[in-house]
Amino acid sequence: MSYSLYYTAKRNTPLTDTENSSVKNIVEKYNSEYPFKEKAEDFCVYEFASKNDIIFNGSTKLPGSDVELLYEVSVYWLKCLTEITVLLHDCQWTVTFDDINIIYDKDTGWRFSTDEEYSKSTVPFKENNSAMEKLIYKYCNKEYTIDGVKTYIIPKERYDELYHDIEISDMPLKERHLSFIKYLKEINIPEIYLSIVFAYGGHLYDLIPCYKYDRKLYHVSLKNGWVCLECRQPNTFNNITLMPMYESDVDFLPLDVTPEIPPVFKKIPCQKCGKLLNRRFLIVGILPN
Ligand SMILES: [Zn+2]
Repeated sequence: MSYSLYYTAKRNTPLTDTENSSVKNIVEKYNSEYPFKEKAEDFCVYEFASKNDIIFNGSTKLPGSDVELLYEVSVYWLKCLTEITVLLHDCQWTVTFDDINIIYDKDTGWRFSTDEEYSKSTVPFKENNSAMEKLIYKYCNKEYTIDGVKTYIIPKERYDELYHDIEISDMPLKERHLSFIKYLKEINIPEIYLSIVFAYGGHLYDLIPCYKYDRKLYHVSLKNGWVCLECRQPNTFNNITLMPMYESDVDFLPLDVTPEIPPVFKKIPCQKCGKLLNRRFLIVGILPN
């Protein structure tokens, strides 16, 4: 799965030629000085004639193989955006990381919200939550509690129906949910179950995969790669690879829970330096073409 930054600035008066060329210079500078090995795309500004007061608009896809890298690259592009924001006066800005609002701080510029700010800005999550509750009611008849997280399994024969229901809904994170269901159908691994979980400290319902091993279910995350902490080499996986959700996202489980992770999840060596990557993985199949 990949993430993007989205940004829009609105103003009554159009961009001046000077502003336009200054924006171009800033973007060029950040694109040419990009310091990371892995890149999804250059900082992207849409070329268009001003419409509906929009004077600046674009999105940039982020490399998705490693949470730390994802964060660092986001921060880098947000610095670029901060310079543009300082340059363009009197604009109304909307900046998001997927569906999550990015905050503008007068002293430091664009930044991610703190946990406290994040849990306060619950409007899209509340909408997502109530939409998810409806889906649970319609599709799931059993509640599991796995590692302290309420988990609802969607019957495999109802994936198409669920896809359709989400497609015609206006729930937040809709595109993400749809592409996830499509992907699970495509890879079709019998031990992987689509589930709705109520996680992240009881803030958010989300769709995630669960893996059934030895008659028990485990929360997992699908990974297409991982960056080696030793040599910074991005390792790309050519197989369908799972990671325990607990290792993928520290915020997923309640704070006081350390889950049991079955021994089939193992550390694997870096493709470049041979040292073990700092997470455990499990290969469950071959990627479809
Ligand atoms: Zn390495």
